Amino acid sequence: MPSTIHGVSASPGIVVGEAHLLFWEVPEVRARVIAEDEIEGELVRFHAAVEKAIDRLHRVKARAEEKAGAAEAAIFDVQVAILQDVELRKRVETLIRQSLSAEKAFDLVLIEWRDHFARSTNPMMRERIGDITDVHIRVLSLLLNLPDHDPVDLEPGSNAILVTHDLTPSLTIQLDRRAIVGIATDAGTRTSHVAILARSLGLPAVVGLIDATSKITSGDRLILDGTNGTLIPRPTAAVLAQFADRAQREQAAQRELASLAGAEPVMTDGTRVTLLANVDLPDEAAPAAASGAGGVGLMRTEFLVLGRTAMPSEDEQYEAYAKVLRAFGTLPVVIRTYDVGGDKLPIGGFPHEPNPFLGWRAIRMCLDEPELFKVQLRALLRAAVHGNARILLPLVVSVEEVRQARFLLQEAAAELTRRGVPFKADVPLGVMIETPAAAMSADSFVGEVQFFSIGTNDLVQYTLAVDRGNASLVTRFTPLHPAVLRLIARTVQVGHGAGLEVEVCGEMASQPLMAYALLGLGIRTLSVAAPGIPVLKRIVRGVSATGSAVAAQAALAADTPREAEQILRQALAEELGEELLGGLLGLA
Ligand code: PEP
Ligand code: MG
Repeated sequence: MPSTIHGVSASPGIVVGEAHLLFWEVPEVRARVIAEDEIEGELVRFHAAVEKAIDRLHRVKARAEEKAGAAEAAIFDVQVAILQDVELRKRVETLIRQSLSAEKAFDLVLIEWRDHFARSTNPMMRERIGDITDVHIRVLSLLLNLPDHDPVDLEPGSNAILVTHDLTPSLTIQLDRRAIVGIATDAGTRTSHVAILARSLGLPAVVGLIDATSKITSGDRLILDGTNGTLIPRPTAAVLAQFADRAQREQAAQRELASLAGAEPVMTDGTRVTLLANVDLPDEAAPAAASGAGGVGLMRTEFLVLGRTAMPSEDEQYEAYAKVLRAFGTLPVVIRTYDVGGDKLPIGGFPHEPNPFLGWRAIRMCLDEPELFKVQLRALLRAAVHGNARILLPLVVSVEEVRQARFLLQEAAAELTRRGVPFKADVPLGVMIETPAAAMSADSFVGEVQFFSIGTNDLVQYTLAVDRGNASLVTRFTPLHPAVLRLIARTVQVGHGAGLEVEVCGEMASQPLMAYALLGLGIRTLSVAAPGIPVLKRIVRGVSATGSAVAAQAALAADTPREAEQILRQALAEELGEELLGGLLGLA
């Protein structure tokens, strides 16, 4: 039996499915000279493949239209137009008549086209290279009889586990949940955005598998264990039965935890904690509200942009934000302004940078593109009349950025007044503390904002200089490092000292030991992907403010992350009992 492949648990849950290997790359074509009497057959084969590809594109387009609207779906018209181009077809036919195989002829012509477009001085032409590459892959895959790699067009009910080297957040958004039951990637970590998305979608996922794509073949039966971070190819009946049993036990434990939805998140000594949901897509709002979340601690608006070629309009954004606000009634909903950049990029729209995580992203891009930013701010102010909205600014390093953003917010409000559109003017403004600069100068923000939100994914990345998405660095990505804990402690001290609410919305909040440390450091508001709320609530209800504070102080004084972890584990086991802690650690 092929052995278990170990990776990183990105989103819990056990599923059994069929491997769907995704290699979206132009396949290599070997030269093949054909005999005179094969020419007609090759011409027929070429035309049949093109027609089949066009038919496929029409179906993909229909799906895209359903999900992202007509404007987005139009990119597939461009690809159909390339395949219908008379000159292109003639050129391929000529090469086939000169004794080249259909695949070699098509390959050569598409390479010529790509070179021609790449040399163009017209940027619109250069932007079409992606479309040329897509049709190149589609038609060659058909001509070479390669396995079908299109993940966007899998049939509902395919029960597919997508196995790929890496997945962009934009592709993740386009995946059809009715067809794909799990995700396995060679690259990635728990804090890469693919993992974050999978968690909010409740889609089991294992990342950081290093070389799963070379060990698995499309069609292989797989067990994906998102809880423990493993992938088991071609399991025996005995192994399948063993996992089915575990899956059942996990589901029963989750059901039991879910019954806590109506229970208050109160610590054993009566201290109240607020548990909020991270919402990445507007459709997640209603289920998040039903799961017992006390509001939204982070809506990542950039997910409205990913997988598209253009920014959404003011009206479209207004609808998206209003949907989330309405789902939560009077409960607070924190909507973060665009954090585009890093590993979150729209299709083709932004310059590639040598160092994207240190580059032109988030608030930097928004302040440099005030007109684009104000579209979002107007949409936010308009939507705010439908609930209890708060606006959050990402990746801030200096209070100047907050002042500039506030100035643009005022301009946006003035524009809405001139237009006579209803909006709410006094929306609370908060700042993400996710850079060491922001944490160290937290006091400078006090007079300018109404709340702090600690983004531990980036705070850990920038404090420890460890790329949050790099699978080979996972053991070095240690949120319990004393430097990180001290920055959090400092932020809490400054924020609470000034009467500001301080929440944590990074992944630290969803991991039992780390959540315990955060409670101990004085954090009283935690925001996690909605499926993670029940585990967190169970922890909150089983620990005391004093016990967690003592443990956190000891962890703060530890020399290493490992030492801090041991301290916290022991203290949490004492509060919850070893058995319950073991069970909860297995579900997070
Ligand atoms: C963070 O950095 O912790 C955070 C919540 O934001 P994101 O993961 O979107 O960067
Ligand atoms: Mg961040």
